[in-house]
Amino acid sequence: MGKTTFNISKNDNFSEWYSEILAKAEIVDLRYGVKGFVVIRPWGARIIEKMYKIYESALRATGHSSVIFPAVIPEGNFEKESSHVEGFAPDVFWLEKKQGEERLALRPTSETAFYDLYKIWIRSYRDLPMKIYQRANVFRNETKATRPLIRSREFHWIESHDAFASKKEAEAQVRDDIVMTEEVMHKIFGVPFLAMKRPEWDKFPGAEYTIGSDSIMPDGRIIQQPSTHLISQHFVKAFGLKFKDDKEKDRVPWLTCYGPAMSRILASVISVHGDDAGLVLPYTLSPVQVVVIPVGKEKTEDRRQKTELINKIRADLMKDYIDVEIDDSEKRAGEKFFYWEMKGVPFRIEVGAREIEKGEVVVFIRDTREKVSVKIEDLAETIKNFGAEYDERLIARANEDFASRIIDCSSKSEIKKVLDSGKIARVGFCSCDKNGKSCAEFIEKELQARVMGTLASESETTEDRGQRTGKKLGKCLFCGKKANVVVYAGKSY
Ligand SMILES: [Zn+2]
Repeated sequence: MGKTTFNISKNDNFSEWYSEILAKAEIVDLRYGVKGFVVIRPWGARIIEKMYKIYESALRATGHSSVIFPAVIPEGNFEKESSHVEGFAPDVFWLEKKQGEERLALRPTSETAFYDLYKIWIRSYRDLPMKIYQRANVFRNETKATRPLIRSREFHWIESHDAFASKKEAEAQVRDDIVMTEEVMHKIFGVPFLAMKRPEWDKFPGAEYTIGSDSIMPDGRIIQQPSTHLISQHFVKAFGLKFKDDKEKDRVPWLTCYGPAMSRILASVISVHGDDAGLVLPYTLSPVQVVVIPVGKEKTEDRRQKTELINKIRADLMKDYIDVEIDDSEKRAGEKFFYWEMKGVPFRIEVGAREIEKGEVVVFIRDTREKVSVKIEDLAETIKNFGAEYDERLIARANEDFASRIIDCSSKSEIKKVLDSGKIARVGFCSCDKNGKSCAEFIEKELQARVMGTLASESETTEDRGQRTGKKLGKCLFCGKKANVVVYAGKSY
């Protein structure tokens, strides 16, 4: 007899749950045998494809065009900006050098590829703003332990590289990038996050500043999702980028970049929404939104009627662009139910003699496990409404969990307790410029946690927070100096 539940508790043993779900729901295959590289199987690839589609239409709606760059970057380009090289060099996979040719890097990120062409493409203020993205896989030689989709040596992302005539426009783009993360990753994929301005010591190599979005996994670990950067003018000058303004005067453009990684966001989608019966996919992202399963045994005549009804249901749903699949395989009905629940398909419809007779079907709803009777003629409309409600429920549940995991702390022992219980500590901290670095190192060493940064979209003061919670956050708990900023700290992958 087949196993009828998935039966690993996500909350008790997230790590095991995550590994099992990736295998059982056929998201990835780890048997390729190269550390940090995984095969993404059809079910995973179809989800990622939907994510790309949504993200890319959001980018196009904000004036971006797509481009396809080579996967290799000549060493000379890569080395033009010193802090970028310093930051990325240890991660680079170099290709074997061919005699008489320049050494090539497999791209770890593509600023140094794009800017080499931007030097040619950007001539005049009329060429600006230039907003271009590419869908790409990038490679980083991760030396720490890798985890599929979370920390890999290859990831599948979108990188947008934008150029503007003024700093003001570039900074507006950075804010727009955060809005896009909110609109897509949070409001469609259901993954809540904090947009964090990174401390000086943790910004992108070559950036003036970096804003990262941090999500949390069920075990309390922070996972960095899309980050956006205002590129430093030093970087811009290293590439010799300039343009003529409307008075024919030479000026230097301002650059931003943004990098949402679909494979990594998928890790969050799986982890945030899944339950002890398997995946729970947002209706919008599920490769199959409705699965139809024939049930019962009957005479030939009735079977013909059943097939007709199932085909009619499929046609009706497809007319409304609902992704539907019929499972008429030889498996027993119970096994099919288990299989599609584990795959995270939002709705299951069973069709048997009773349904033919009554003209209505029972819809099983994956997240709440409710069963609802729906008239066949109303099915497409009802599924669309149910789908919207389904995603709202998933987002609300994720938000509630996320909010409950941020705790103000006013002592070191409190921070430790909060971090050990899978939460994020919000604390008063001396400073996020280089002066705060030693306190951050202390947090890293003593508490195995990372200072994520300060809130990017609003400024929080220790006084405000203190008033809200009655806790004293006015002093840095690590050096005793005045706390000038409110930072968030968490354990990370
Ligand atoms: Zn301090």
